[in-house]
Amino acid sequence: MAFYLTSTKHTGTGMFTDEPIMNGAILERFGGELYHLQDCDADRGVYLQVDHEIYLGPSLDRASDYTNHSCAPNCGLLWIAIDEVYLVAIADIPADAELCWDYSTSTAEYGPDRWTMNCSCGAPECRGLIDQFDTLPVKLQQHYIGLGVVPPFAQETIK
Ligand SMILES: [Zn+2]
Repeated sequence: MAFYLTSTKHTGTGMFTDEPIMNGAILERFGGELYHLQDCDADRGVYLQVDHEIYLGPSLDRASDYTNHSCAPNCGLLWIAIDEVYLVAIADIPADAELCWDYSTSTAEYGPDRWTMNCSCGAPECRGLIDQFDTLPVKLQQHYIGLGVVPPFAQETIK
C-alpha cells in the first residue's frame, strides 16, 4: 500500500491510496512537534489539536499533512498518545480514493477565537462549517465515539 498526493476537486492537495484499504487498517502516523496554543501560527489549519491547548505540528512532509476534512469521512484518527496519532480506515476504501477524516472529531476550542473552517467537501451531509466536537449532532458524536476515533479531550467537552 502506498499513498500519493494529487489535487482534489474541493480542497487543494489531498492524500490518496493506490490500493484498496480494509476497514480498520492503520495507515499513516501523524508526527511533528508539540506546541502550546500560544506558540501556534494564527492559522492553525496545519496543526492537529491533541489536548486542551496542545497541538501537534506538521509532520515534516509526510502524506498525513495533506489529509483533508470530509463531513462523510472514510478515515478517522486512532489515539495512542498525544504525540502518537494514526490515520485509520473506518470503511472499506477503494483504490484511488481520497483519504479524509472529520476535523471536528479533534477540535475542542472555545470563545470567539476558536478555530473553524468553511467546508465545501461535497458530501450530501456537508455541515458547511467545521466547528468543535461539541457542536456536532449527538448522533454523530456517538457514531464517532463508537468508532474509537475521538480523543479523550474532545469527549470530555460533551459530558
Ligand atoms: Zn463538508
